[in-house]
Amino acid sequence: MPLLGIDVGTSSLKVVIASESGEILGEGVSEYPVSRPCSGWTEQDPELWWGALVLAVPQALAAASLRASDIRAVGLSGQMHGSVLLSRATVESRGVQGATIRPALLWNDQRTASQCERIESVVGGRRALVELVGNAALTGFTLPKLLWVREHEPELAARIASFMLPKDYIGFRLTGVCATDVGDASGTLLLDPEARAWSDRVLGLFGVEREILPSLHESGEVIGVITRWAAEQLGLNPDTPVIAGSGDNQAGAIGAGIVGTGQVLATLGTSGVIYAHADRPRRDAGETRSSTGRLHTMCAADGTKSQPGSWSLTGCMLSAAGSLQWARDTIAPGVPFDRLIDEASSVEPCARGLLFMPHLAGERCPYPDPAARGAWIGLTARHTRAHLIRAVIEGITMTMAQILDIVRGAGVEVRSVRLGGGGARSRFWRELQADLYGVPVATTNTEQGPAFGAAMLAGVGIGVWPDVASAASVCVHESERIEPEPVRAQRYSPAREAFAGLHAGLQDTFRSLGDIDRESQA
Ligand code: ADP
Repeated sequence: MPLLGIDVGTSSLKVVIASESGEILGEGVSEYPVSRPCSGWTEQDPELWWGALVLAVPQALAAASLRASDIRAVGLSGQMHGSVLLSRATVESRGVQGATIRPALLWNDQRTASQCERIESVVGGRRALVELVGNAALTGFTLPKLLWVREHEPELAARIASFMLPKDYIGFRLTGVCATDVGDASGTLLLDPEARAWSDRVLGLFGVEREILPSLHESGEVIGVITRWAAEQLGLNPDTPVIAGSGDNQAGAIGAGIVGTGQVLATLGTSGVIYAHADRPRRDAGETRSSTGRLHTMCAADGTKSQPGSWSLTGCMLSAAGSLQWARDTIAPGVPFDRLIDEASSVEPCARGLLFMPHLAGERCPYPDPAARGAWIGLTARHTRAHLIRAVIEGITMTMAQILDIVRGAGVEVRSVRLGGGGARSRFWRELQADLYGVPVATTNTEQGPAFGAAMLAGVGIGVWPDVASAASVCVHESERIEPEPVRAQRYSPAREAFAGLHAGLQDTFRSLGDIDRESQA
Protein backbone atom coordinates (compact mmCIF):
# COMPACT_ATOMS: atom_id res chain seq x y z
CA MET A 1 0.00 0.00 0.00
CA PRO A 2 2.37 2.79 -1.20
CA LEU A 3 2.23 6.06 0.77
CA LEU A 4 3.54 9.37 -0.53
CA GLY A 5 5.23 11.85 1.84
CA ILE A 6 6.04 15.43 0.77
CA ASP A 7 8.54 17.82 2.43
CA VAL A 8 8.40 21.44 1.24
CA GLY A 9 11.99 22.42 2.15
CA THR A 10 13.69 25.81 1.90
CA SER A 11 15.92 24.89 -1.04
CA SER A 12 14.04 21.92 -2.50
CA LEU A 13 10.87 19.87 -2.32
CA LYS A 14 11.36 16.19 -1.51
CA VAL A 15 8.97 13.32 -2.13
CA VAL A 16 9.27 9.86 -0.59
CA ILE A 17 7.21 6.78 -1.40
CA ALA A 18 7.15 4.32 1.52
CA SER A 19 5.65 0.85 1.89
CA GLU A 20 3.56 -0.25 4.86
CA SER A 21 6.62 -1.92 6.32
CA GLY A 22 8.46 1.41 6.23
CA GLU A 23 10.65 0.54 3.26
CA ILE A 24 11.60 3.46 1.00
CA LEU A 25 10.39 2.53 -2.48
CA GLY A 26 11.32 5.72 -4.33
CA GLU A 27 12.34 9.34 -3.89
CA GLY A 28 12.12 12.52 -5.95
CA VAL A 29 13.52 15.99 -5.44
CA SER A 30 13.25 19.33 -7.21
CA GLU A 31 15.11 22.51 -6.24
CA TYR A 32 14.12 26.18 -6.22
CA PRO A 33 15.78 29.44 -5.18
CA VAL A 34 15.18 31.69 -2.16
CA SER A 35 14.80 35.35 -3.10
CA ARG A 36 16.41 38.02 -0.92
CA PRO A 37 14.91 41.33 -2.03
CA CYS A 38 16.58 43.27 0.85
CA SER A 39 19.22 42.45 3.46
CA GLY A 40 17.68 40.10 6.04
CA TRP A 41 14.58 39.36 3.93
CA THR A 42 13.88 35.87 2.55
CA GLU A 43 10.90 35.11 0.34
CA GLN A 44 9.60 32.40 -1.96
CA ASP A 45 6.73 32.34 -4.43
CA PRO A 46 4.53 29.38 -3.34
CA GLU A 47 3.86 28.51 -6.98
CA LEU A 48 7.52 27.35 -7.10
CA TRP A 49 6.65 24.64 -4.54
CA TRP A 50 3.77 23.37 -6.64
CA GLY A 51 5.96 23.37 -9.76
CA ALA A 52 8.57 21.33 -7.85
CA LEU A 53 5.93 18.82 -6.74
CA VAL A 54 4.82 18.32 -10.34
CA LEU A 55 8.45 17.41 -11.20
CA ALA A 56 9.29 15.35 -8.09
CA VAL A 57 6.27 13.01 -8.02
CA PRO A 58 7.02 11.33 -11.40
CA GLN A 59 10.69 10.90 -10.34
CA ALA A 60 9.67 9.08 -7.18
CA LEU A 61 7.14 6.92 -9.04
CA ALA A 62 9.72 5.98 -11.68
CA ALA A 63 12.31 5.13 -8.97
CA ALA A 64 9.72 2.93 -7.23
CA SER A 65 8.53 1.36 -10.53
CA LEU A 66 4.98 2.25 -9.54
CA ARG A 67 2.04 3.73 -11.37
CA ALA A 68 0.50 6.92 -10.04
CA SER A 69 -2.72 5.04 -9.36
CA ASP A 70 -0.85 2.80 -6.86
CA ILE A 71 -0.49 5.68 -4.33
CA ARG A 72 -3.02 5.20 -1.52
CA ALA A 73 -2.57 8.39 0.51
CA VAL A 74 -0.49 11.58 0.62
CA GLY A 75 1.02 13.19 3.76
CA LEU A 76 2.41 16.72 4.04
CA SER A 77 5.34 18.33 5.86
CA GLY A 78 7.45 21.41 5.27
CA GLN A 79 9.40 24.44 6.41
CA MET A 80 7.52 26.07 9.26
CA HIS A 81 6.38 29.66 9.96
CA GLY A 82 6.21 30.94 6.33
CA SER A 83 3.29 33.25 5.52
CA VAL A 84 1.20 32.17 2.52
CA LEU A 85 -1.52 34.71 1.77
CA LEU A 86 -4.39 33.88 -0.60
CA SER A 87 -6.98 36.19 -2.18
CA ARG A 88 -10.70 35.41 -2.35
CA ALA A 89 -10.41 34.48 -6.05
CA THR A 90 -7.65 31.95 -5.35
CA VAL A 91 -9.55 30.39 -2.41
CA GLU A 92 -12.69 30.13 -4.53
CA SER A 93 -10.79 28.39 -7.33
CA ARG A 94 -10.39 25.42 -4.94
CA GLY A 95 -6.73 25.00 -5.78
CA VAL A 96 -6.96 25.35 -9.55
CA GLN A 97 -5.46 28.83 -9.28
CA GLY A 98 -2.30 29.18 -7.25
CA ALA A 99 -1.49 32.89 -7.33
CA THR A 100 -0.81 34.36 -3.88
CA ILE A 101 -1.19 37.99 -2.79
CA ARG A 102 2.59 38.33 -2.38
CA PRO A 103 5.54 35.91 -2.03
CA ALA A 104 5.67 34.07 1.31
CA LEU A 105 7.97 35.51 3.99
CA LEU A 106 10.08 32.51 5.09
CA TRP A 107 11.07 31.14 8.52
CA ASN A 108 14.48 32.82 8.39
CA ASP A 109 13.24 36.27 7.33
CA GLN A 110 14.53 38.87 9.82
CA ARG A 111 12.46 41.97 8.97
CA THR A 112 9.98 41.80 11.86
CA ALA A 113 12.05 42.78 14.95
CA SER A 114 9.80 45.75 15.77
CA GLN A 115 6.60 43.69 15.32
CA CYS A 116 8.04 41.09 17.73
CA GLU A 117 8.75 43.74 20.36
CA ARG A 118 5.21 45.06 19.97
CA ILE A 119 3.63 41.60 20.30
CA GLU A 120 5.44 40.93 23.59
CA SER A 121 4.57 44.33 24.99
CA VAL A 122 0.86 44.21 23.96
CA VAL A 123 0.49 40.78 25.56
CA GLY A 124 2.20 41.91 28.78
CA GLY A 125 5.75 40.66 28.33
CA ARG A 126 7.61 37.59 27.08
CA ARG A 127 6.52 35.39 29.94
CA ALA A 128 2.83 36.23 29.37
CA LEU A 129 3.23 35.36 25.68
CA VAL A 130 4.92 32.04 26.53
CA GLU A 131 2.01 31.26 28.86
CA LEU A 132 -0.49 32.02 26.07
CA VAL A 133 1.09 30.47 22.98
CA GLY A 134 4.08 28.49 24.29
CA ASN A 135 6.66 30.67 22.52
CA ALA A 136 8.50 33.97 22.63
CA ALA A 137 8.06 36.31 19.65
CA LEU A 138 10.85 35.47 17.21
CA THR A 139 11.30 37.23 13.91
CA GLY A 140 10.77 33.97 12.02
CA PHE A 141 7.31 33.29 13.44
CA THR A 142 4.13 34.02 11.46
CA LEU A 143 2.06 36.58 13.42
CA PRO A 144 4.87 39.19 13.19
CA LYS A 145 4.87 38.61 9.41
CA LEU A 146 1.12 39.24 9.20
CA LEU A 147 1.55 42.46 11.20
CA TRP A 148 4.42 43.55 8.96
CA VAL A 149 2.34 43.08 5.79
CA ARG A 150 -0.52 45.04 7.37
CA GLU A 151 1.81 47.90 8.32
CA HIS A 152 3.87 48.10 5.16
CA GLU A 153 1.52 46.83 2.46
CA PRO A 154 -2.00 47.73 3.65
CA GLU A 155 -3.54 47.46 0.20
CA LEU A 156 -2.30 43.85 -0.07
CA ALA A 157 -3.32 43.04 3.51
CA ALA A 158 -6.88 44.14 2.73
CA ARG A 159 -7.10 41.38 0.09
CA ILE A 160 -6.18 38.48 2.43
CA ALA A 161 -8.98 35.91 2.38
CA SER A 162 -6.92 33.04 3.75
CA PHE A 163 -3.59 32.66 5.49
CA MET A 164 -1.73 29.34 5.69
CA LEU A 165 1.71 27.72 6.12
CA PRO A 166 3.92 26.40 3.30
CA LYS A 167 2.91 22.73 3.38
CA ASP A 168 -0.77 23.80 3.66
CA TYR A 169 -0.45 25.57 0.32
CA ILE A 170 0.40 22.20 -1.25
CA GLY A 171 -2.59 20.71 0.62
CA PHE A 172 -4.77 23.50 -0.81
CA ARG A 173 -3.61 22.89 -4.39
CA LEU A 174 -4.18 19.14 -3.94
CA THR A 175 -7.61 19.26 -2.28
CA GLY A 176 -9.01 22.79 -2.62
CA VAL A 177 -9.26 22.93 1.20
CA CYS A 178 -7.63 25.58 3.46
CA ALA A 179 -6.40 23.45 6.39
CA THR A 180 -3.44 23.10 8.72
CA ASP A 181 -2.35 20.94 11.65
CA VAL A 182 -1.81 21.85 15.30
CA GLY A 183 1.97 21.26 15.13
CA ASP A 184 2.70 23.65 12.26
CA ALA A 185 0.13 26.11 13.69
CA SER A 186 2.17 26.12 16.95
CA GLY A 187 4.80 28.16 15.08
CA THR A 188 2.41 31.02 14.26
CA LEU A 189 2.04 32.59 17.78
CA LEU A 190 -1.73 32.28 17.17
CA LEU A 191 -2.29 28.83 18.69
CA ASP A 192 -2.94 27.88 22.29
CA PRO A 193 -0.92 24.63 22.38
CA GLU A 194 -2.59 23.38 25.54
CA ALA A 195 -6.11 23.68 24.05
CA ARG A 196 -4.84 22.68 20.57
CA ALA A 197 -7.02 25.55 19.27
CA TRP A 198 -6.54 29.08 17.94
CA SER A 199 -6.04 31.51 20.84
CA ASP A 200 -9.08 33.81 21.01
CA ARG A 201 -7.08 36.16 23.21
CA VAL A 202 -4.24 36.60 20.69
CA LEU A 203 -6.63 36.81 17.72
CA GLY A 204 -8.55 39.54 19.57
CA LEU A 205 -5.48 41.50 20.70
CA PHE A 206 -4.06 41.70 17.18
CA GLY A 207 -7.32 41.88 15.20
CA VAL A 208 -6.74 38.64 13.26
CA GLU A 209 -10.08 37.55 11.79
CA ARG A 210 -10.96 33.93 12.39
CA GLU A 211 -12.31 33.63 8.80
CA ILE A 212 -8.80 33.93 7.34
CA LEU A 213 -7.43 31.03 9.42
CA PRO A 214 -7.25 27.52 7.97
CA SER A 215 -9.27 24.74 9.66
CA LEU A 216 -7.23 22.99 12.39
CA HIS A 217 -6.52 19.26 12.44
CA GLU A 218 -4.42 16.70 14.24
CA SER A 219 -1.48 15.61 12.07
CA GLY A 220 -2.79 12.13 11.29
CA GLU A 221 -6.16 13.43 10.10
CA VAL A 222 -7.47 13.46 6.51
CA ILE A 223 -8.05 17.07 5.35
CA GLY A 224 -9.60 16.21 1.98
CA VAL A 225 -9.09 14.25 -1.22
CA ILE A 226 -7.19 15.02 -4.41
CA THR A 227 -9.36 17.00 -6.82
CA ARG A 228 -9.83 16.02 -10.45
CA TRP A 229 -7.73 19.04 -11.49
CA ALA A 230 -4.80 18.15 -9.18
CA ALA A 231 -5.01 14.49 -10.19
CA GLU A 232 -4.56 15.50 -13.83
CA GLN A 233 -1.59 17.70 -12.99
CA LEU A 234 0.23 15.01 -11.01
CA GLY A 235 -1.09 11.84 -12.60
CA LEU A 236 -2.38 10.64 -9.22
CA ASN A 237 -5.85 9.17 -8.68
CA PRO A 238 -8.64 11.65 -7.94
CA ASP A 239 -10.14 11.10 -4.48
CA THR A 240 -6.82 9.93 -2.95
CA PRO A 241 -6.88 11.07 0.72
CA VAL A 242 -4.51 13.87 1.77
CA ILE A 243 -3.39 13.90 5.42
CA ALA A 244 -2.65 17.12 7.36
CA GLY A 245 0.91 16.13 8.36
CA SER A 246 3.02 18.70 10.20
CA GLY A 247 5.96 21.10 10.24
CA ASP A 248 9.33 19.63 9.28
CA ASN A 249 10.62 19.37 12.87
CA GLN A 250 7.56 17.50 14.12
CA ALA A 251 7.24 15.28 11.05
CA GLY A 252 10.99 14.54 11.21
CA ALA A 253 10.61 13.49 14.84
CA ILE A 254 7.84 11.05 13.83
CA GLY A 255 10.15 9.73 11.09
CA ALA A 256 12.81 9.11 13.77
CA GLY A 257 10.28 7.34 16.02
CA ILE A 258 10.13 10.03 18.75
CA VAL A 259 6.64 9.15 19.98
CA GLY A 260 6.88 8.33 23.70
CA THR A 261 7.86 9.53 27.15
CA GLY A 262 11.58 10.17 27.59
CA GLN A 263 12.39 10.15 23.87
CA VAL A 264 14.47 12.93 22.34
CA LEU A 265 15.93 13.61 18.90
CA ALA A 266 19.25 15.51 18.64
CA THR A 267 20.03 16.67 15.11
CA LEU A 268 23.53 17.96 14.34
CA GLY A 269 23.04 19.58 10.94
CA THR A 270 24.15 23.08 9.98
CA SER A 271 22.06 24.15 12.98
CA GLY A 272 21.56 21.87 15.99
CA VAL A 273 18.09 20.93 17.21
CA ILE A 274 16.99 19.16 20.36
CA TYR A 275 13.40 17.90 20.00
CA ALA A 276 11.88 16.30 23.09
CA HIS A 277 8.57 14.47 23.36
CA ALA A 278 6.44 15.85 26.21
CA ASP A 279 3.33 14.27 27.75
CA ARG A 280 2.13 17.72 28.83
CA PRO A 281 2.56 21.19 27.30
CA ARG A 282 5.70 22.12 29.29
CA ARG A 283 6.88 25.71 28.96
CA ASP A 284 10.28 27.36 29.26
CA ALA A 285 9.19 30.18 31.59
CA GLY A 286 12.06 31.24 33.85
CA GLU A 287 12.46 34.11 36.28
CA THR A 288 14.11 36.49 33.81
CA ARG A 289 13.43 37.49 30.23
CA SER A 290 16.59 35.74 29.04
CA SER A 291 15.60 32.48 30.75
CA THR A 292 12.12 32.50 29.18
CA GLY A 293 11.10 31.23 25.76
CA ARG A 294 14.50 29.72 24.88
CA LEU A 295 12.62 26.53 24.01
CA HIS A 296 9.52 26.25 21.83
CA THR A 297 6.41 24.52 23.16
CA MET A 298 4.55 22.93 20.29
CA CYS A 299 1.90 20.31 19.61
CA ALA A 300 3.48 17.04 18.49
CA ALA A 301 2.41 15.33 15.28
CA ASP A 302 1.23 12.13 16.98
CA GLY A 303 -2.50 12.91 17.09
CA THR A 304 -5.28 11.34 15.01
CA LYS A 305 -8.92 12.21 14.40
CA SER A 306 -9.99 10.12 17.40
CA GLN A 307 -7.00 10.76 19.70
CA PRO A 308 -5.46 14.21 20.29
CA GLY A 309 -1.67 14.12 20.27
CA SER A 310 0.96 15.13 22.83
CA TRP A 311 3.48 17.99 22.80
CA SER A 312 7.13 18.76 22.18
CA LEU A 313 9.80 21.07 23.53
CA THR A 314 12.36 22.18 20.96
CA GLY A 315 15.59 24.15 21.29
CA CYS A 316 17.74 25.28 18.37
CA MET A 317 21.38 26.38 18.34
CA LEU A 318 22.09 28.25 15.12
CA SER A 319 25.55 27.01 14.18
CA ALA A 320 26.20 23.36 15.16
CA ALA A 321 27.85 21.11 12.56
CA GLY A 322 27.96 24.38 10.59
CA SER A 323 30.74 25.46 12.99
CA LEU A 324 32.75 22.36 12.13
CA GLN A 325 32.19 23.04 8.44
CA TRP A 326 33.47 26.62 8.94
CA ALA A 327 36.50 25.39 10.91
CA ARG A 328 37.30 22.78 8.26
CA ASP A 329 36.97 25.27 5.38
CA THR A 330 39.09 27.84 7.23
CA ILE A 331 41.94 25.88 8.80
CA ALA A 332 41.84 22.54 6.96
CA PRO A 333 40.38 23.21 3.49
CA GLY A 334 39.68 20.09 1.49
CA VAL A 335 40.28 17.63 4.36
CA PRO A 336 37.43 15.09 4.50
CA PHE A 337 35.37 15.25 7.71
CA ASP A 338 36.22 11.62 8.57
CA ARG A 339 39.96 12.36 8.50
CA LEU A 340 39.60 15.58 10.42
CA ILE A 341 37.60 13.87 13.15
CA ASP A 342 40.17 11.03 13.37
CA GLU A 343 42.80 13.69 13.89
CA ALA A 344 40.76 15.42 16.62
CA SER A 345 40.02 12.14 18.39
CA SER A 346 43.76 11.40 18.64
CA VAL A 347 44.30 14.24 21.17
CA GLU A 348 43.11 14.23 24.78
CA PRO A 349 39.58 15.17 25.94
CA CYS A 350 39.17 18.91 26.68
CA ALA A 351 41.89 19.62 24.09
CA ARG A 352 44.51 20.63 26.68
CA GLY A 353 42.31 23.28 28.25
CA LEU A 354 40.92 24.71 25.03
CA LEU A 355 37.23 25.67 24.69
CA PHE A 356 35.27 26.74 21.61
CA MET A 357 32.09 28.85 21.61
CA PRO A 358 30.08 27.92 18.51
CA HIS A 359 27.92 31.06 18.13
CA LEU A 360 29.05 31.92 14.61
CA ALA A 361 25.61 33.22 13.55
CA GLY A 362 24.47 34.77 16.83
CA GLU A 363 22.57 32.41 19.11
CA ARG A 364 19.02 31.38 19.90
CA CYS A 365 19.38 28.63 22.50
CA PRO A 366 20.73 28.15 25.19
CA TYR A 367 21.25 31.97 25.15
CA PRO A 368 18.86 34.05 23.06
CA ASP A 369 21.53 36.54 21.95
CA PRO A 370 21.74 37.68 18.32
CA ALA A 371 25.01 39.51 19.15
CA ALA A 372 26.79 36.35 20.45
CA ARG A 373 29.95 35.44 18.51
CA GLY A 374 32.29 32.47 18.28
CA ALA A 375 35.60 32.07 20.12
CA TRP A 376 38.43 29.71 20.96
CA ILE A 377 39.30 30.35 24.60
CA GLY A 378 42.52 29.16 26.22
CA LEU A 379 44.94 28.98 23.29
CA THR A 380 48.60 28.22 24.02
CA ALA A 381 51.57 27.65 21.73
CA ARG A 382 51.20 23.88 22.31
CA HIS A 383 47.82 23.68 20.60
CA THR A 384 47.71 22.08 17.16
CA ARG A 385 45.04 21.88 14.47
CA ALA A 386 43.80 18.66 16.08
CA HIS A 387 43.20 20.49 19.37
CA LEU A 388 41.39 23.32 17.60
CA ILE A 389 39.07 20.88 15.84
CA ARG A 390 38.54 18.78 18.95
CA ALA A 391 37.55 21.93 20.85
CA VAL A 392 35.06 22.83 18.09
CA ILE A 393 33.38 19.41 18.27
CA GLU A 394 33.31 19.50 22.07
CA GLY A 395 31.98 23.09 22.16
CA ILE A 396 29.11 22.21 19.80
CA THR A 397 28.25 19.14 21.87
CA MET A 398 28.48 20.99 25.20
CA THR A 399 26.02 23.56 23.81
CA MET A 400 23.60 20.79 22.73
CA ALA A 401 23.97 19.27 26.22
CA GLN A 402 23.10 22.66 27.77
CA ILE A 403 19.89 22.74 25.70
CA LEU A 404 19.09 19.22 26.88
CA ASP A 405 19.55 20.43 30.47
CA ILE A 406 17.07 23.27 29.86
CA VAL A 407 14.61 20.64 28.57
CA ARG A 408 15.13 18.63 31.76
CA GLY A 409 14.72 21.83 33.81
CA ALA A 410 11.31 22.38 32.17
CA GLY A 411 10.19 19.06 33.65
CA VAL A 412 10.62 16.80 30.63
CA GLU A 413 12.16 13.39 31.21
CA VAL A 414 15.10 12.39 28.99
CA ARG A 415 15.65 8.62 28.85
CA SER A 416 17.47 8.27 25.56
CA VAL A 417 18.43 10.38 22.56
CA ARG A 418 18.19 9.42 18.91
CA LEU A 419 20.76 11.08 16.69
CA GLY A 420 20.35 12.70 13.29
CA GLY A 421 22.13 15.10 10.91
CA GLY A 422 25.62 14.96 9.41
CA GLY A 423 27.28 14.92 12.87
CA ALA A 424 25.76 11.50 13.59
CA ARG A 425 27.93 9.96 10.83
CA SER A 426 30.95 9.89 13.12
CA ARG A 427 31.33 7.18 15.80
CA PHE A 428 33.56 9.51 17.85
CA TRP A 429 30.90 12.23 17.84
CA ARG A 430 28.13 9.73 18.71
CA GLU A 431 30.16 8.56 21.75
CA LEU A 432 30.83 12.14 22.79
CA GLN A 433 27.08 12.85 22.60
CA ALA A 434 26.35 9.81 24.83
CA ASP A 435 28.93 11.01 27.39
CA LEU A 436 27.81 14.64 27.47
CA TYR A 437 24.06 13.94 27.29
CA GLY A 438 24.42 11.34 30.06
CA VAL A 439 21.92 8.91 28.48
CA PRO A 440 22.14 6.21 25.80
CA VAL A 441 22.16 7.53 22.23
CA ALA A 442 21.04 5.65 19.13
CA THR A 443 20.98 5.96 15.37
CA THR A 444 18.00 4.65 13.39
CA ASN A 445 17.34 3.00 10.05
CA THR A 446 15.48 6.09 8.79
CA GLU A 447 17.39 8.98 7.26
CA GLN A 448 14.71 10.49 5.05
CA GLY A 449 13.46 12.82 7.79
CA PRO A 450 10.29 14.87 7.42
CA ALA A 451 9.10 13.39 4.10
CA PHE A 452 9.27 9.90 5.61
CA GLY A 453 7.41 11.09 8.73
CA ALA A 454 4.76 12.58 6.43
CA ALA A 455 4.39 9.23 4.64
CA MET A 456 3.94 7.50 8.03
CA LEU A 457 1.27 10.06 8.96
CA ALA A 458 -0.45 9.39 5.61
CA GLY A 459 -0.61 5.69 6.56
CA VAL A 460 -2.04 6.52 9.98
CA GLY A 461 -4.64 8.77 8.32
CA ILE A 462 -6.05 5.94 6.21
CA GLY A 463 -5.81 3.26 8.91
CA VAL A 464 -2.73 1.31 7.75
CA TRP A 465 -1.68 1.63 11.41
CA PRO A 466 -4.07 2.52 14.26
CA ASP A 467 -1.85 5.28 15.62
CA VAL A 468 1.51 6.97 15.20
CA ALA A 469 3.25 4.83 17.88
CA SER A 470 2.24 1.65 15.99
CA ALA A 471 3.52 3.16 12.74
CA ALA A 472 6.84 3.97 14.45
CA SER A 473 7.20 0.48 15.92
CA VAL A 474 6.84 -1.04 12.43
CA CYS A 475 8.84 1.52 10.42
CA VAL A 476 11.64 2.79 12.72
CA HIS A 477 14.37 0.65 14.29
CA GLU A 478 17.51 1.55 16.20
CA SER A 479 20.57 0.54 14.19
CA GLU A 480 23.21 1.22 16.88
CA ARG A 481 22.96 2.14 20.57
CA ILE A 482 25.81 3.63 22.62
CA GLU A 483 25.72 3.84 26.42
CA PRO A 484 27.39 6.78 28.17
CA GLU A 485 30.74 5.90 29.71
CA PRO A 486 30.81 7.53 33.20
CA VAL A 487 34.62 7.55 33.62
CA ARG A 488 35.11 9.17 30.21
CA ALA A 489 32.21 11.59 30.84
CA GLN A 490 33.75 12.65 34.16
CA ARG A 491 36.85 13.96 32.37
CA TYR A 492 34.72 16.65 30.72
CA SER A 493 33.19 17.98 33.96
CA PRO A 494 35.66 20.79 34.75
CA ALA A 495 35.67 21.98 31.12
CA ARG A 496 31.86 21.96 31.05
CA GLU A 497 31.78 24.04 34.19
CA ALA A 498 34.17 26.61 32.71
CA PHE A 499 32.20 26.57 29.44
CA ALA A 500 28.89 27.27 31.20
CA GLY A 501 30.15 30.64 32.50
CA LEU A 502 31.67 31.89 29.24
CA HIS A 503 28.68 33.54 27.61
CA ALA A 504 27.70 35.65 30.62
CA GLY A 505 31.28 36.89 30.95
CA LEU A 506 31.70 37.74 27.26
CA GLN A 507 28.26 39.14 26.40
CA ASP A 508 29.32 42.80 26.57
CA THR A 509 32.55 42.11 24.71
CA PHE A 510 30.58 40.43 21.90
CA ARG A 511 28.37 43.50 21.61
CA SER A 512 31.39 45.81 21.34
CA LEU A 513 33.02 43.54 18.77
CA GLY A 514 29.80 43.62 16.74
CA ASP A 515 29.92 47.44 16.77
CA ILE A 516 33.54 47.40 15.60
CA ASP A 517 32.59 44.94 12.86
CA ARG A 518 29.71 47.13 11.64
CA GLU A 519 31.75 50.35 11.79
CA SER A 520 34.55 48.79 9.78
CA GLN A 521 32.03 47.91 7.04
CA ALA A 522 30.43 51.37 6.98
P1 ADP B 1 22.23 20.30 6.70
O1 ADP B 1 21.73 21.00 7.93
O2 ADP B 1 22.85 21.26 5.71
O3 ADP B 1 21.26 19.34 6.09
P2 ADP B 1 23.76 17.90 7.39
O4 ADP B 1 22.83 17.29 8.37
O5 ADP B 1 23.92 17.24 6.05
O6 ADP B 1 23.50 19.47 7.20
O7 ADP B 1 25.21 17.97 8.11
C1 ADP B 1 26.31 18.48 7.44
C2 ADP B 1 27.42 18.68 8.44
O8 ADP B 1 27.70 17.45 9.10
C3 ADP B 1 28.74 19.13 7.86
O9 ADP B 1 28.81 20.54 7.80
C4 ADP B 1 29.75 18.57 8.83
O10 ADP B 1 30.01 19.50 9.87
C5 ADP B 1 29.07 17.36 9.42
N1 ADP B 1 29.59 16.11 8.83
C6 ADP B 1 29.58 15.74 7.55
N2 ADP B 1 30.16 14.51 7.39
C7 ADP B 1 30.52 14.11 8.62
C8 ADP B 1 31.15 12.95 9.15
N3 ADP B 1 31.52 11.94 8.35
N4 ADP B 1 31.32 12.90 10.48
C9 ADP B 1 30.94 13.90 11.29
N5 ADP B 1 30.37 15.02 10.83
C10 ADP B 1 30.15 15.13 9.54
